[in-house]
Amino acid sequence: MRRLVTLSALAAAAVSLGAQKVAPVNTGRADRVFVNGRVWTGEPGKALAEALAVRGSTLLEVGTTSAIRRLAGKGTDVVDLRGRFVAPGFIDAHLHLVGGGLSLEELRLDDASDFAAVAARIGAWARAHPEERWVTGEGWSYAAFPGGLPSRVQLDALVPDRPAFLSSYDGHTGWANSAALRLAEVRRATKDPPGGEIVRDAAGEPTGVLKENAQQLVERLLPKKLPHEIERALRRAIAQAAAWGLTGVQQAGISEEELESLARALEATPQLRVYAALRMERDPTPDVLASQDELRRRFATPRLRVGAVKGFLDGVVEARSAAMFEPYSGGGTGLEHFTREELDRSVAAYDKAGWQVMLHAIGDRAVEMALTAFERAARANGTSGRRHRVEHLEVPRTADLPRFKALGVIASTQAMFPYPNANHLDVYVPALGPERARRALAFKAVDDAGAVQAFGSDWPVFTAEVVRGIATAVTRTTFEGTPAGGWEPLQRLSAEAALRHFTRDAAYAEHAEQERGLLKEGRVADFVVLSQDLLALPPERIKDTKVLLTVLGGQDSFRAPGF
Ligand SMILES: [Zn+2]
Repeated sequence: MRRLVTLSALAAAAVSLGAQKVAPVNTGRADRVFVNGRVWTGEPGKALAEALAVRGSTLLEVGTTSAIRRLAGKGTDVVDLRGRFVAPGFIDAHLHLVGGGLSLEELRLDDASDFAAVAARIGAWARAHPEERWVTGEGWSYAAFPGGLPSRVQLDALVPDRPAFLSSYDGHTGWANSAALRLAEVRRATKDPPGGEIVRDAAGEPTGVLKENAQQLVERLLPKKLPHEIERALRRAIAQAAAWGLTGVQQAGISEEELESLARALEATPQLRVYAALRMERDPTPDVLASQDELRRRFATPRLRVGAVKGFLDGVVEARSAAMFEPYSGGGTGLEHFTREELDRSVAAYDKAGWQVMLHAIGDRAVEMALTAFERAARANGTSGRRHRVEHLEVPRTADLPRFKALGVIASTQAMFPYPNANHLDVYVPALGPERARRALAFKAVDDAGAVQAFGSDWPVFTAEVVRGIATAVTRTTFEGTPAGGWEPLQRLSAEAALRHFTRDAAYAEHAEQERGLLKEGRVADFVVLSQDLLALPPERIKDTKVLLTVLGGQDSFRAPGF
């Protein structure tokens, strides 16, 4: 980015434009000014501005270029944005930094859309890593396999010499080869564990597919990542997040050990703010609550803050494990991980102790249970304003949508979940059937019901590249433009609504809207400069937008080469 070097150059420009009769006095109060931009502030009624002034880590003023220039002085860094688009720093309301960081270095099967592609990637990775005792990886989609599920026989042919275990893109289904099943002692006679299923063939033999909790039969044997490997993955994840324009993220579930690694990683790579959710325990004892509270008190800085707990109420649609009122096409109504009584008790205990509770709830029955648990907790404890959250919220009953606003519950949805690839159209939609598919991932209906909708990615389930999330929410097509007009096009959002969900609404979802999510005097100077104006572009071109600069607390956390 070109900088204006001298004040005389500025004055000359002002004179030549005839902008001012009386030369303005420059106060020099700003450390940095960013001028000549197209600034989307996110503020209702005052959404557009041209320039920003930063002092220390906060915004001194947002306004016109001429007004902001008056805040510059001799030592002020002046950045000419040359018409570029500026937005509040992006905030991802639901992701997994450890998994995301590891995904940047592991065997990934994303975008391998048929079995030939899956096989080629596994074979190449296994050949390139003969030293690894296991072949592990993730990201396969159900649609890549005839019938929607893989088999151990296929994997035996690709990895005959050692155990292999590969997770589906949503993390709810595992694929083991015969060596891995042998080590895990999964046989014909092995019983399904609670909350899980060992898929079997017509003869009763395990096929290699392990659903939900059954994955742990193999996962517990995997070589554990060492703390320094976790920390390295986290540093990579943080730098990548900054390059995607993120200034804040909300970590959906973290262990104490990972939290320590995250604190160290953020010290080494101070490029992101993280709001973290601990794991929600079933019927937490006073001891559990005390130790979680201790972590909440220890991690309470602007860079790393613990404020929520996250629990899983059900599974996913593709594996037919999300809890539904009515059976899936093909049968079954899914698995609940809590009884209603257990859930009500656990949520009430956390609500009483001042926690925000995040519940993964995808099926309509799970969403109803979550809302009811939040409602009962507030009533029993006499609490309000906890901003409890339903995570994913994929297939709610239409009648439950107004309850979000009424109860002050956050709708935490993921902008790329309606991405209509083969997996979505050939596995997800048919499992639901047409009536439920119409109310699935219905972002517009959630907005119209008056809920605060916070967007996230669920990285590494989908990329956390925010412009791709916005593109998907606006078009509801793939990046190749299919299906024409978008999947369930009535649920498309405007670019401005999608931006709001990734900024102000996501800040609200972590109780941070007084500091962040808007560009306004006195707020933290977290913002992003993009190559194109998201609000003026044809929707199909949003996906090509590049992040040029990410500013966190007034400092650059990412700068694109050449900017
Ligand atoms: Zn998640």
